[in-house]
Amino acid sequence: MDLTLTPITVAHGDGVGPEIMSACLRILEAGGARLAPEFIPLGETVWRDGHSAGITPEGWASLRRTGVFYKAPVATPQGGGMKSLNVTIRKSLGLYANVRPCTAYAPFVATRHPAMDLVIIRENEEDLYAGIEHQQTQDVVQCLKLVSRPGCERIARYAFEYARSQGRRRITCMTKDNIMKLTDGLFRRVFEEVGQDYPEILQDHMIIDIGAARIADSPEAFDVILTPNLYGDIISDIAAQVAGSVGLAPSANIGTRCAMFEAVHGSAPDIAGQDVANPSGLLLAGLMMLNHVGQGEAAARIHNAWLSAIEDGVGTPDMVRDHGALGTQAFATELIARMGQSPQQLQPAAPRRTPPAPISNHAPAPRAEKTTIGVDLFIDWQGDVNSLAARLKTLEQGPLELRMITNRGVKVWPEGLPETFCVDHWRCRFMNGGSAIPLRDIAALTLRAAEAGLEFIKTENLCAFDGQPGFSLGQGQ
Ligand code: NAD
Repeated sequence: MDLTLTPITVAHGDGVGPEIMSACLRILEAGGARLAPEFIPLGETVWRDGHSAGITPEGWASLRRTGVFYKAPVATPQGGGMKSLNVTIRKSLGLYANVRPCTAYAPFVATRHPAMDLVIIRENEEDLYAGIEHQQTQDVVQCLKLVSRPGCERIARYAFEYARSQGRRRITCMTKDNIMKLTDGLFRRVFEEVGQDYPEILQDHMIIDIGAARIADSPEAFDVILTPNLYGDIISDIAAQVAGSVGLAPSANIGTRCAMFEAVHGSAPDIAGQDVANPSGLLLAGLMMLNHVGQGEAAARIHNAWLSAIEDGVGTPDMVRDHGALGTQAFATELIARMGQSPQQLQPAAPRRTPPAPISNHAPAPRAEKTTIGVDLFIDWQGDVNSLAARLKTLEQGPLELRMITNRGVKVWPEGLPETFCVDHWRCRFMNGGSAIPLRDIAALTLRAAEAGLEFIKTENLCAFDGQPGFSLGQGQ
């Protein structure tokens, strides 16, 4: 075995996947990449063979051995029972950072934003994507939005290390912390804390709604954007679209031990087997992979050959709308012939090593003093709020007192408005006058509720951490 080669796992995928992957591997090799690919089946054939995750045990073994996955698009199977392969791989391998560069190649690729050159770094594992959902009453379903401090710390640190290694000057964090003060508030706060270690990088924050509007309107104003999972999913598609180049967009998913590189586009079954698919998205993802494994020289050489082709109007039919478009394999051959050339107008690429997943250099924070000071009891109830409050008052014992009832977050007792529309899902807050409440008192409260015929759905303990309330106060509190 040649020890100068970097082992990687490669999947040819479905649809146009095999055509563009073979073209990309040829180009990477001709550009001087030193890779030892292990090929694994993935997607439709694997699903058909009965592996519901779309990947075989041997595939997992290869991924865990190499830690680097170069993946062509796969088709999402129709029908139930099949899991999303991308979500499975991301979660199983802990690929917590999704990195999506969105660059304009004006005037060679049409765009209204010729100066656009931004990178979106999206947290990939937490937020609403934990996939914890419940139907709690006939009227109400819920999805848990989970955000952890360690999760925020490592994505924030990755974003800063990425910016530093790529010569990027500014990071804009986008959240909705004006509404979600605890979850998005934590994401923003940790961004600002970690940012203190990177004083040379400009840092700001935008509320996600105005941020998304600005990306659509003036994307050239941004450099690196850091967001929680859901917002990042949405704005990375907006940004790729306004760059004018969804078909050219690459994506990297980075974890502590593994990383996955792929095109943003799907398996394009409508053009599969016709030798017309554009390999550029997958190729640019391959260049991110080379930078990741420390082969930045080869990445820059190949990138410059590709930029020079773009400038000369050389490309596949989706890039070159008039005559003279090349097929997938001919385009690859043309790029191979251009190795060593550089673009004349577009900014040439330089070797850049992307950072490994960062190791936090902070000592873990001391454990805060946690005190349980109340409980929200959620009740399934069809009736008016005053009768519910009267029933709940009978549950009070000792200093434990009913303080508030809300319906979908709006206070409806005491002093609610008759105009407030209510559903069958009530949050009933009991507190102990601000002092600690033993957990057994909470269990006893639920027992009394059950004995009184009140159908509780769940409880949420109200805790203070070092004296600071760790829960939203609710209206009127
Ligand atoms: P798609 O991206 O495959 O295709 C959308 C359009 O873009 C089609 O007209 C297609 O011909 C064109 N297109 C896509 N890639 C192209 C390329 N390289 N060159 C030229 N034209 C290209 O999106 P879709 O049709 O919504 O999805 C097809 C399948 O791919 C679905 O099963 C979907 O679930 C899957 N998908 C997979 C991934 C992935 O593996 N990462 C991502 C998105 C979609």
